Formats: sequence, C-alpha cells, structure tokens
Amino acid sequence: MSMRFTDRPREECGVFGVFGHEDAVRLTYFGLYALQHRGQESAGIVSSTGKSMYEHKGMGLVPEIFDESVLNELYGHIAIGHVRYSTTGSSIIRNAQPFSASHAGKTLAIAHNGNLINAKEVRRDLEKKGSLFQTTMDSEIIVHLLARNADRGIEEAMVATVSTIEGAYSCVLMTEDSLIAFRDPNGFRPLCLGRLDEAYIVASETCALDLIDAVYVREIDPGEILIINDHGLRSIKPLPERKKSFCIFEYIYFARPDSTIFGQNVYGVRKKLGQGLALENPIEADFAMPFPDSGNYAAIGFCQESGIPLEMGIIRNHYVGRTFIEPAQSMRDFGVRVKLNPVKDILDGKRVVIVEDSIIRGTTSKTRIKTVRQAGAREIHMVVSCPPHRYPCFYGIDFSTKGELIASEHSVEEIRAFIGLDSLCYLSLAGMLAATGLDNDHFCLACFNGDYPLLPKADISKSCLEDY
Ligand code: SF4
Repeated sequence: MSMRFTDRPREECGVFGVFGHEDAVRLTYFGLYALQHRGQESAGIVSSTGKSMYEHKGMGLVPEIFDESVLNELYGHIAIGHVRYSTTGSSIIRNAQPFSASHAGKTLAIAHNGNLINAKEVRRDLEKKGSLFQTTMDSEIIVHLLARNADRGIEEAMVATVSTIEGAYSCVLMTEDSLIAFRDPNGFRPLCLGRLDEAYIVASETCALDLIDAVYVREIDPGEILIINDHGLRSIKPLPERKKSFCIFEYIYFARPDSTIFGQNVYGVRKKLGQGLALENPIEADFAMPFPDSGNYAAIGFCQESGIPLEMGIIRNHYVGRTFIEPAQSMRDFGVRVKLNPVKDILDGKRVVIVEDSIIRGTTSKTRIKTVRQAGAREIHMVVSCPPHRYPCFYGIDFSTKGELIASEHSVEEIRAFIGLDSLCYLSLAGMLAATGLDNDHFCLACFNGDYPLLPKADISKSCLEDY
C-alpha cells in the first residue's frame, strides 16, 4: 500500500509545442521535463510528419513515461506535449493529454492548460448534435468544436471555437501540417513564443525555452491565435479585447522562479513579495527561514529588507518520490519528516520567522510547525507572501470549493491558533500587487477578494463532466 502527502495547491498543467525542427519530439520531451512542476500525474507527446501523426502518453513523470525507444518511434518535425495535473476529469490514462481525434479524414491533437467555465453547457449542446465524447476532460470540447467547423478551414474553425468557449485556456493544437497556439482573452495562464534557429517553439513558461537553448520572442497575447505552418506565422485576434486577468498566483507559487511570465521574472517578484512582508510586518527574531522550496525566494527578500539573518532550519530531502510505502503506526508525522527534517542545533531555543508562500488548508503547515516546535524553537512566527485565500478558483487551480480553504471560514487569529504559531501575518493585497511591478488591472485576484473576472453558470468542479 502506498500513500501520498500534500495539501499544497497543485499546479494545473504545462504545454509545449515545436514547429519545423528535425528533433521536434526530443525537444518536446525536454520542454516537458522543464515544465514538470506544472503537472506530475500524466504526460504525453503527439508528433506529425506533415502527413501522419504519432503519439505516446502515460501516467507518471516525464522520464518514467518516455525512454529512447519510445522517442524513436515518434516521428516528425511538428510536436506538441503536455504535463497534467487534473483540474477537470479523473486522473486516469484516458484523460491524459495531448488529446487527439479524427474527423472527416483529418486528425487534430490538443494540449490545454486551464479550465473552461462553460464546459458543461457546451458539451451538452454538442452531445445533442451527435458528438460522442471519449473523456471527461473539458479540453475534448475544443476538439469537437473544431471538428464541427473543420470544413470552413482551420482559421475559421478556430474563430468559431474560441467564440463558443469561455474560461481559462492556454493551448497548443496540432493538425497534420500546422501548430496553433491560442490563449483566452483574459490571459489567465501564461504562454510564450520562442525560436530555435528556424523552428518555432511555444511553451507555458520560459524555463522550457532555456533548457533547449531557444530564444524567447514574446508572450502570446491574451485572445491571440497563432497559426504556424510552412507559410510562416500568422497572428489573429478575433475576439473583442477584455480586461487582462493574469493569474497572480503563478508569481506567488506555480511558475518556476527562473521563468519570466507576464513580462516579469518570477524570482524577482517573489523576492519583492518577501521585501513587502518585511516592510509591513516588523518582527524581532533570531533568524528567518523558508519551508524549502516553497518560501525560498520570498525568504531571501524578507531577510534582505528586515536585516534578520537567513538560516535553513529545515532540510529538504530532494530524493523523495511522490508516494511511499505505508509507514508503521508508530511513525507519526512521517509524511512531513520524510520530506522536510528540522535541524535541532539551529532551531533550539531560537525565535524563528518562517516565510511561507501560501496557506491553503493549513493542515500541512500545522504538522510542519509541530516538528519545528519539537526541535526546540522558542518562538515561531509565520509571514505569508500573499493575502489569505478565501475564495475558490474556477480557472484551473485545484481549490475549486470554499471547503478546501481554511481562510474562507476562519479568521487570521483562528488560523494562527490552529497551526500553532506565536504570530501569523499575511501580505496585504496592495503589497502583493506592488511586488509585481504591473498595473493592478492586469490580474485575476479572485481567490483573494472574490472579484471573479468570469463567473461559471453551473458546477465546474473537477468531476463536473463525470456526473452530470
Ligand atoms: S482565482 Fe486565484 S488561483 Fe485562480 S486564476 Fe485567479 S488568482 Fe489564479
């Protein structure tokens, strides 16, 4: 029997695409490797020679799914790939992406990051018109819409499709001879364009471009559709412009610190979040520390601004897999200790500030704090580099109900007491926005302030397409 431990928010998905490179498949493999932090449940690659498509998908991590022999069986100069953590649909191989389907002799494959908020209504409508669905993923809806409009040519089919779907989508789509990248008009999730020699690369984050030595060109704009084929690159923006709604939580938690998203380097923003925390919350302490790796960069900023020394009072075991053999009953808090072990000699008798990026359910923080207390810390203060999460996310993050968020029902003082801290402070909304260096009206802040850029009409929980 094995078990999994976490109440951390899960990354949603990562997408990657290549057009015009003889090593398109291998580049996609490495791109997915760099995007592994965005999804660890399943991964897949679909490639095309311009005439035929090849695919391989599996459950698990990228290096567990692909090896030399698998990659050698995927041919073509066009490829798309996906790493997945399910935000709609169960974690089963049938729901792994890219998702491909054939219609009237043409095959399409899609890799999608985000969540459609009108998936239920559109799917019901498509089913009434005769579409047969193979999965419980919202992404399949996009393929069916494209297939229905395929006779009008890919560009018109794309326009009809994006005019029907609502929600968060940063996607790469492949036909036999084209790579298409498109992003929703709010721009919830990141998506960028790069070049490697003559080839075009599309990726969720720039860290994937870096790994394959591609040059970053630009972000794909909210509402933009890029069609890349032998005729070159064509950009269209068929939908009316909307207020931008970049997911600010990408900066706080999801994206890799070495990525540049929404025009800013993530490492730099996280450091500024920590600096903001120090300015807003003067605390007397012997040292500050992160729970590695989540609070690392905010902790650096906090220490630089406050003058409080940085220590690593907890050491992370980097070689822990995602599941474990069930420990003996006597091995209490095993799940926390196996990953993060406190250093007693550093913590004993000290006043400690822990810099954390977020608190979702609070249960993991509670167990971690217990181990720090047991290691002898005299005072434990926690500063969190964003405001309390009070509202669910409908745009692809896995806290889609209020019940999953401790701050939706409890005050900061109640959370402090529950976790077992001497004090607890969150960064203010204004402090968080200031750290991004972008105008306030660029972001979705819904999980913090309940101000939703788009509201779903019906239930859009993870299983909403399984039980309707
Ligand atoms: S609700 Fe929160 S997590 Fe979801 S897209 Fe908006 S900022 Fe990101």
